Formats: sequence, structure tokens, C-alpha cells
Amino acid sequence: MASFNFATWPPQLTPEQLEALTLACNYIRALAWIIIPSTFSITIQYPTTHTNHRDPCPPLTHSRALPPCTIQAARGLQSVYNVLYSRVAMDTQFLDTVMGAEEGVGKADEFTGTLWRGWKKIREHGVPVQPLHLGLFRSDYMLHAAEDRLALKQVEFNTISSSFGPLSERAAAMHRNILASTSYFSASPHLTADNFPENGTTSGLAEGLSKAHEAYGVRDARILFVVQPNERNVFDQRWLEYELLEKHQIHAVRQTLADLAVSASLDPSTQALTITIPSPTNPSPYEISTIYFRASYTPSDFPSPSYYDTRFLLERSRAIKCPSLPLQLAGGKKVQEALTRPGVLERFLSNKGAKWGTRALDLTAHAADIRATWMGMWALDSEDADIAAALNHLPVSGQGQENVPPGTRLARLKAPSLVLKPQREGGGNNVYRKAIPAFLDALPAEEREAWIAMEMIETPRGVSGYLVRASPSSSGTDNGSTEKKVVRAEVISELGFFGYALFGVGEVVEREVGWLVRTKGTESNEGGVAAGFSVLDSVVLV
Ligand code: ADP
Ligand code: MG
Ligand code: MG
Repeated sequence: MASFNFATWPPQLTPEQLEALTLACNYIRALAWIIIPSTFSITIQYPTTHTNHRDPCPPLTHSRALPPCTIQAARGLQSVYNVLYSRVAMDTQFLDTVMGAEEGVGKADEFTGTLWRGWKKIREHGVPVQPLHLGLFRSDYMLHAAEDRLALKQVEFNTISSSFGPLSERAAAMHRNILASTSYFSASPHLTADNFPENGTTSGLAEGLSKAHEAYGVRDARILFVVQPNERNVFDQRWLEYELLEKHQIHAVRQTLADLAVSASLDPSTQALTITIPSPTNPSPYEISTIYFRASYTPSDFPSPSYYDTRFLLERSRAIKCPSLPLQLAGGKKVQEALTRPGVLERFLSNKGAKWGTRALDLTAHAADIRATWMGMWALDSEDADIAAALNHLPVSGQGQENVPPGTRLARLKAPSLVLKPQREGGGNNVYRKAIPAFLDALPAEEREAWIAMEMIETPRGVSGYLVRASPSSSGTDNGSTEKKVVRAEVISELGFFGYALFGVGEVVEREVGWLVRTKGTESNEGGVAAGFSVLDSVVLV
């Protein structure tokens, strides 16, 4: 068993803080044997406005990384976002224009283009046998210091493999456990059980999957989890499987795309998907009601063309896809940008004659609230008049830039306040601030269309926290027995709000289901937990 790395703990910790951190380490270590691969970390956070690092970290004050009003605002918007992205996924013409390989981003981005072509071929074959789509979404936000106020701004909207729901529930449980067991948390009147909200993400996401399963209508069918080989996020996924089995009596089956190339087949007349796993004890083949993709969001999931064939076979099946190809394409960064263009969001949120909606929501009334969560975005290949006009307001030399589209020129000039994003998921793909000019110099003209420029969300500084991170064990093994290293850092947090939507026929069945907080040091631009930038965190409602 590993010991704690006390040598790295800041010397100014009070005994109570030390106790809280020791408990955090114990809790993580207890989980680590069962659920958390050694590369994962959890933070116990002590927000403070003190930036003088020589001062001892004071007890929690009124300041905090994520005020409760922002969490309520994100919760309030989630249903509107659920319906918005359901409608985007149903708008074939819009997706062809924005993401397609003939007119849209798929021309410049091979991965997007291949997915789109596969989808188009299936459409051309006839009406899909399964009209329903399931989305397990996560809308991500950070706090932006706009003029004199803080505002909640959207980082991105995930429609595929939205992860860390169950593990964020565990992070919240850890903080409640520490609250119950240490005197440190009594140091602030705000640290009470009431202020540590329950996080029911696991049950909410499993409910979404179970709704799809019910809609499919075959009680004994199973839910297929499509996972990556040597899946590192397995313990985030397992809790969903357990919940499906224990609360809904639905079995799951886990397969990689490589497994499915052998195990999956479609009934020629009904297109029902069955999985056959040869084993003397296995009662397979299983019929599949719902396909939950925790893989196939990144090109490395498709090491050869046959992997795409398997993905398209699944798409053709009668099972409900989470997400379907159009819903995956709807989550593209380019769609996020296209929605910001004048009138586009308002068209999608129109109440009049709209087919895919829910009577419970006056969507039009929320359009302004949704827009208020967006930062400025544009395409690098944009020739739009408003981009050209913005360029005219800047002192531009313009020399040697005559053939460069206004979108790219504007990105170069505003680089210090921008991030560039390609059509990718999973972290580590963006280009930030100072790195932008050199990146643009090297970017072939025909690839510009694959990228969007987005204004950086400028989160206020001055909140510090203790990040409990895994550090490789001295034995060098990767079996969860890693030392936990505590690092004090100035931190910023990213809030994710989960929701689900089952749509495609009649009203959209949807709801918001819970949250994720990821916290990282302010020096890091990126934010993923699995990618090693952030640690899991939770919220205090004060
Ligand atoms: P991915 O789909 O790969 O997760 P994101 O758009 O979420 O891509 O970007 C990755 C990370 O980069 C985010 O988690 C966030 O920390 C940071 N980031 C992205 N966009 C912005 C932005 N506009 N302002 C500040 N940080 C951002
Ligand atoms: Mg993403
Ligand atoms: Mg992200």
C-alpha cells in the first residue's frame, strides 16, 4: 500500500486542513481500489480571495469558484438545450450545410466527412427503421468576468460520450463524507450538509438509457456500451451499468468496435441488432435495444476503414442510438459556431409549427438566455460582412493578407484573447492565445474551414484550492496503489450540466439530471480530467 506524500504538502496547513486532506486521500484511496484508475484525481477545494500565498489558507469565505446562482442558471437552461440539440439533429438540411462533406466542414475534416458520408448513404437507402434518437448531453460552462459582472458562459455542448457523471457524483459524496467526519468544515458557517447538494447524475443518465430501452419495447433486450479498447474510463461507465441493472432490471453488454466487427449482426427483415459472444456459459445472442457510444468520437477509434463499416452497421440497426450519427454531428464545434449567427438559434427555438419540442417549454422565451451564455465565435474561413466589419475597426496592416479570409485575419489579430478549435472531442486538440499566429502560418488554406475561433472565457482569479492528484507509485505499478500528492494552486472551475433527450417521434422526452465540476490550475488552458489537466470537484451552495 502506498503512503501519502507528506513532503509535498504546503507547510502552512492547519491541523484541521491536514485532517480534511488526509480524509480526502483516504476516501480516494478507498475508491481507487475499486473505481478510480491511478491517473484520476479529486480536489478538495478551499476557495479564498486571498492571493498572498505566504498567508495561511484562511477558512472558506463568502467567495467561491462557482456561485449557486450560476448552477441554478445552468440547470434552468438545460431543458432548452436538450430540445435545441434534438431539433438540430433532426434538421438534415442544416447539418448537411454545416457539417457535410459537400458543402460544410466535412470537406476540410476527413473524420467529420467520413461520418457524414456514412449517414448520407444510410439516408439514401430509405427511411431509417428507428425514428428515435437518444442524447445524453453535457453542457459545459465557465465563469466570465464581463465588465463588472460575472456571467456563465458556455465552453461547449457535448452530444457524444459525455463522461464523468457517475464519478462527479462520487466526488460530491466524498466532500459530504469529509464534512461528516472532520472539524475543518466547521470552520465556516457555510459548510453545512444543506449546502452540499446531492448529485443524482448516475440515476438521471441511467433513466435516459432506460427510457430508450422501454421505447424500443423488448423487455429482455440489452443495452450495448460501445467502449474503447483498454478503456480508462471504465469506472465512470460501470456505475451506469449497475444502476441499469439494479433500478431498471436492464442488462448491459460491453463491446469495442473491433469486438462488434465479429459479434454484431442485423436481422435482414427487421434490422434488429444482435450480439453473439461465443462462450459455453453465455446465453447470447442478445438483442440490443439501445447503443450507448462511449467510443467512436475520435479518429483514433477508427484505425482502419472497416471500423467505420461497423459503426455504420450499428447506425442502420433498429436499436436506438445514443447518439445517432446526426446527433453526433450536431455536437460539432462548427454547429456551436453556426448557431451564434444571426437568427439561427431563434429559428431553432421557434414555438410556431415546430415539430420536435415539448409543450412544457416556451422555447422562444428562452432564446435570449441561451444567447447570453455564448462567447463570440466565427469560422476561420468566414467571409461574413460582420467579420469584415470587425476587421475594419482594428489597426490592420493587411500586407500579405490579401488572399486570407477575414475570419483568419481577425483570429490572428485577436489571438491573445482567443482559442481555436477543430472538430474534435476528448481534450488536447485546441490552440490557445500566443500559439495561434504560428499555428495559422502553418495551417494549409484548405484546412481553415475545419476550425472555429472562439473568444476565451476570462475566469476571475484569486480562488485557491488543494488539488489531490495521483503521483506514480514508487513501485511503478498502475494498479491504483499510487501515492496521492497534494498541490496547492490558484484554481478555476468548469461546470458541466447533464441532461437527456429521447426524440424523433412526438414530443421530446427530456430532463436535466445533474452536474460535474472540474477544477484546474489557472496556468492550464485545457480542462479534461482523463487528459490529466483537471481534477474532479463538487459545489458548495453559499
Ligand atoms: P473538448 O471537446 O475537447 O473537451 P473543449 O471545447 O471543451 O473541447 O475545450 C477543452 C478545454 O479548453 C475546456 O475544458 C476548457 O477548459 C478550455 N476551453 C475551451 N474553450 C474555452 C474558452 N472559450 N475559454 C476558456 N477556456 C476554454
Ligand atoms: Mg467535448
Ligand atoms: Mg470539453
